[in-house]
Amino acid sequence: MHDLTRCVQHPDVSEEGFRSLAVATHRASTIVYPDAESFAARSQRGFDGYTYGLHGTPTTRTLEAQLTALHHGVRTVLVPSGQAACALVFLTVLLPGDHVLVPDTAYGPVRNLCRDYLRPRGIEYDFYDPLVGGGIAALITDRTRLVWVESPGSGTMEVQDVPAIAAAAKARGVLVGCDNTWCTPLLFKPLDHGCDFAAEALTKYVGGHSDLLLGSVTVRDMALRQRMKEVLRSLGIGVSPDEVALALRGIETMGLRLAHVGRVSEAFARRLQAHPLVERVLHPCLPSCPGHAAWARDIGGSGGVFSLLLKPGAEARLNPALTALRVFAIGASWGGTRSLIAPMSVRGDRTATPWTEQGVLLRISIGLEQEEELWADLQTLLDSLAEAPLPALP
Ligand SMILES: *Cc1c(COP(=O)(O)O)cnc(C)c1O
Repeated sequence: MHDLTRCVQHPDVSEEGFRSLAVATHRASTIVYPDAESFAARSQRGFDGYTYGLHGTPTTRTLEAQLTALHHGVRTVLVPSGQAACALVFLTVLLPGDHVLVPDTAYGPVRNLCRDYLRPRGIEYDFYDPLVGGGIAALITDRTRLVWVESPGSGTMEVQDVPAIAAAAKARGVLVGCDNTWCTPLLFKPLDHGCDFAAEALTKYVGGHSDLLLGSVTVRDMALRQRMKEVLRSLGIGVSPDEVALALRGIETMGLRLAHVGRVSEAFARRLQAHPLVERVLHPCLPSCPGHAAWARDIGGSGGVFSLLLKPGAEARLNPALTALRVFAIGASWGGTRSLIAPMSVRGDRTATPWTEQGVLLRISIGLEQEEELWADLQTLLDSLAEAPLPALP
């Protein structure tokens, strides 16, 4: 064999006796076939077979199978981001003339998807009060094909009565999709509570290190999986096996990370309530959080993200106080090892349930830093927002 040919043909080496605990990263566009017949018949392999790198490799199938098991589902599809996971559900279910119900507290870009993509294509939407529960029945029209839920809600943390909403939708033959990013399947399994789609931003707790973007949608109905895969195939959307390999590494420690950040976020939420500059702490574990009873019944544990509503006026000194933080980083896209803080603007993102609070909302994501060092940083932030130093919190 000529050297130039040898350069492009990797020799077969034995894999016998090699068994690693890590999942191999299989990169592929081309999939080769043993003979012309199997190439000609490749479409018969279906979405569970391998036909082209875009549609899946053993690496992506491994993460899909793991998420499917965690969600008590039947199949999972992977997409390049959490936003893509949400969008995929909408694009799979909705056709021109259809209608979708979206909670007022949905992740901001999902609102934009409705306004900027769906409406120009003749798909109508209404935002609803996330606390509507079974009352969703009154909002479902003959054209409604999808009810979207996201619990707790982005920024303001309202916990939805997902079983009641799903039951009401099911009674009308309407599908239900859930953005489950805060909970992960470790805290809440939407398919067990009547939802048809469990969407996740794997970017957050599965990835866990602020260095990848991925999303997933898990279903029980093979027909829905078929429809989602057909949309992805038409749009040419697949995921990188390198991102998936990082997610496969991240998911191994997700349980420990989530248990830690959940415990710390609950502890901080309780302590922060006593601070004179804090108007309200928005954390599902607090009885004052809208939907707390649904949290206690259906979820019972916490992620690391919650919000602080500051007393009006505190924002005057906010920018220098945030910049002075030593442990918290300023940024969005939570779920990594580093604790994050960011001011959120809520008012423009609420239409069904107008947001009337005057104070600034700070979203906090707890990471893996030493707890007391993190607390001291928060205390410094709040102190520097006050005109005079405040007494230390308990
Ligand atoms: C971050 C997030 C998303 C989007 O995830 P990306 O991977 O950043 O696109 C969707 N839903 C919720 C609730 C999120 O927090």
